Amino acid sequence: MEKYPKQKPAEVVMPVCDLPDLLKGQKAIVTGSSSGIGKGVAIALAKAGADVVINYAGSKERAEEVAQEVSAIGRQALVIKADVSQEDQVQAMFKETVEKFGTVDIVINNAGLQKDSCFADMTIDQWNKVIGINLTGQFLCSREAIREFLRRGIRKEVSCAAGKIICMSSVHEMIPWSGHANYAASKGGVMLLMKSIAQEYASQRIRVNSICPGAIRTPINKEAWETPEAYEKLMNVIPYKRIGEPPDIGHTAVWLASDLADYINGTSIFVDGGMTLFPGFTTNG
Ligand code: NAD
Repeated sequence: MEKYPKQKPAEVVMPVCDLPDLLKGQKAIVTGSSSGIGKGVAIALAKAGADVVINYAGSKERAEEVAQEVSAIGRQALVIKADVSQEDQVQAMFKETVEKFGTVDIVINNAGLQKDSCFADMTIDQWNKVIGINLTGQFLCSREAIREFLRRGIRKEVSCAAGKIICMSSVHEMIPWSGHANYAASKGGVMLLMKSIAQEYASQRIRVNSICPGAIRTPINKEAWETPEAYEKLMNVIPYKRIGEPPDIGHTAVWLASDLADYINGTSIFVDGGMTLFPGFTTNG
């Protein structure tokens, strides 16, 4: 027997899953859902029975395309423009959601970006932009969500929790990232923001958790997968030997938001094909 097994699988087989109606009757907001992971999560939530707010900051057309996909599934979609780093815009988004949907049961804090730079050259604008959207944006949306969950209490007909918040963090809440200190700091901040809110409101039956994606095929990391050479290099840090796809995160979000995960609170769930398994040690380091 070989001491270290072969590192490349013969073929990549993608999961085939039908989503059961786990979120029937629930109302969700997914921030930054006109592309990438947010889009994948919005569609997965809709397939599981939720009506979804498609929040965007940039392209209205792409947000409306996602809304059309949600409608085609048979769920309601509401397209709302809001910059998650701006308090007044976040409050207006929640107000409109409650007016049109009646309430919100699930908030997915997904909006985020990178402004990469070596640390010595990082500008205060690059720092503030990333912290403002990735961390302050999650604070603002979580605070409005908690206020609405407390106002409304448990809706027994749809869930045994009063509300669920899912923070889109990253493997970089744990793995330091040279050249991306602002991004890694924002996700490290999200981890303790998430845990502190979870601790504070657990007794009110509000659940707050994070999903920590590894490398998922989206516009944010295009240079890491768009050429065969880049993809092959990426596989060095992914033991499962395939890139993640937005539905991988969507499926996790459905389960985590559902009552199947009712006893899960204050936890980071890593969805990374093993990226956090220290892959450099696979063949003895
Ligand atoms: P993406 O660029 O496709 O999605 C980010 C979305 O956030 C975009 O739709 C963008 O318009 C939106 N956004 C940016 N600034 C905003 C603002 N101020 N207000 C509202 N929306 C705003 O990239 P993605 O990979 O889908 O990223 C989604 C989340 O997943 C981010 O938080 C990112 O940090 C996280 N993440 C992604 C990966 C990955 O490999 N793709 C890995 C770990 C974590």
